[in-house]
Amino acid sequence: MPLERRSWAEPFRIKMVESIRLTTRAQRERAIEEAGYNTFLLRSADVYIDLLTDSGTSAMSDRQWSAMMMGDEAYAGSASFYRFEEAVRRTYGYKQVIPTHQGRGAEHILSRCLIKEGDVIPGNMYFTTTRLHQELAGGRFTDVIIDEAHDPASPHPFKGNIDLDKLKRVLVENPRRVPYVCVGATVNMAGGQPISLENLRAVYALCQRYGVLVMLDATRIAENAYFIQQREAGQAGRKIAQIVLELCGCSDGCTMSAKKDPLANIGGFLAVNSKELADAACNLLVAYEGLQTYGGMAGRDMEAVAVGIDESVQDDHIRARVGQVEYLGEKLRGWGVPIVMPIGGHGIFLDARAFLPHVPQEQYPAQALAAAIYLDSGVRSMERGAVSAGRDPVTGEERMPKLELVRLTIPRRVYTQAHMDVTAESVYCVFEERKQIQGLRMTYEPKLLRFFQARFSECSV
Ligand SMILES: *Cc1c(COP(=O)(O)O)cnc(C)c1O
Repeated sequence: MPLERRSWAEPFRIKMVESIRLTTRAQRERAIEEAGYNTFLLRSADVYIDLLTDSGTSAMSDRQWSAMMMGDEAYAGSASFYRFEEAVRRTYGYKQVIPTHQGRGAEHILSRCLIKEGDVIPGNMYFTTTRLHQELAGGRFTDVIIDEAHDPASPHPFKGNIDLDKLKRVLVENPRRVPYVCVGATVNMAGGQPISLENLRAVYALCQRYGVLVMLDATRIAENAYFIQQREAGQAGRKIAQIVLELCGCSDGCTMSAKKDPLANIGGFLAVNSKELADAACNLLVAYEGLQTYGGMAGRDMEAVAVGIDESVQDDHIRARVGQVEYLGEKLRGWGVPIVMPIGGHGIFLDARAFLPHVPQEQYPAQALAAAIYLDSGVRSMERGAVSAGRDPVTGEERMPKLELVRLTIPRRVYTQAHMDVTAESVYCVFEERKQIQGLRMTYEPKLLRFFQARFSECSV
């Protein structure tokens, strides 16, 4: 009998291993209570499979580790910076490269350079740190993503797309008040959903007509390019590297967290084409990040990022990376667990509203579900719902987003298929017992980015 399909495997073998700890239910009960039911406050030593984030958690390659030994730690003019700069220019195509300690460093500098009090910044759904820096600079974020992005069940292949009518309305209604449009590729908060090349081209053309800049959040642009290669008409024969370059060509610059797609443990950059904007950014850089040839990174970090950038756009790498995410998602879907569809690039997003219909959003169902999964198996996930959305800075009201999600985020090149199986089985067991999960009450609420440090207790307690 012929096989239905042939398997593929990761394009690497394992050279070094790191032990992880299995815990007992009693240990986990103590740990989650001490952590105030917030998975961000768990100690990593109490976690078995850590799917909190794909940020800075990638396994580096032998090439990256050996490049680190070549780090030039000179304060000024480090040779490592020039290798880093060359990798950014070659892969993304921007002329000016400004190093930062991580993505939010770049967001801070960009927001301070371009946003004036009362400005409006349209974007395809918000990201937590991005929106905060826009607000701290005096701006207001406004969502112009297509409606399908807010529906976890919609199968739209490019849920990261911008609604051109919504964008046009914002541009027309706010003359000279829109400094730039912020385009995420992929869109993290929508479930790792891509924007199509066609849509980005149209956004760029529209913005050029209105004299407005387009700035990419390029954090997961290689994953976005993979979805374009797989799903967009006419793109199947192209290399990921080519598509990445073309995406960046439809923008005036980008902010990047090198902790995501570029396979490094720390780092980031702001890259733009305008020399004038780069000069303004460098002025702030020396105050907040560091000199323009290190920006908060060690020389060895810049070496690791430079090699990681190169590896991140290899076709076989990105296919295995997204393939592993799809493997986990298909398994959960086969068991009827409600997840955001289509499956995204960096993780599986559980639809907590559908999972726990008996828990009202005011009792943070996604937060409660993340805690329940940890209790079951020691798998750590993250809330991406009302807690992450925070409060409106003007009214002080809690924002209640349509998407109330738990993210199981897959670090790159770290876990095996067996880890995915254990994770899927744990989520399934929690799903079977879901009626017993109760809502949470917030007992400590920090002012900024509250999801990182908030504490909760069970509603019945
Ligand atoms: C992680 C992330 C950032 C911020 O980057 P950091 O390196 O964590 O500061 C910005 N945008 C998106 C979409 C991200 O996922």
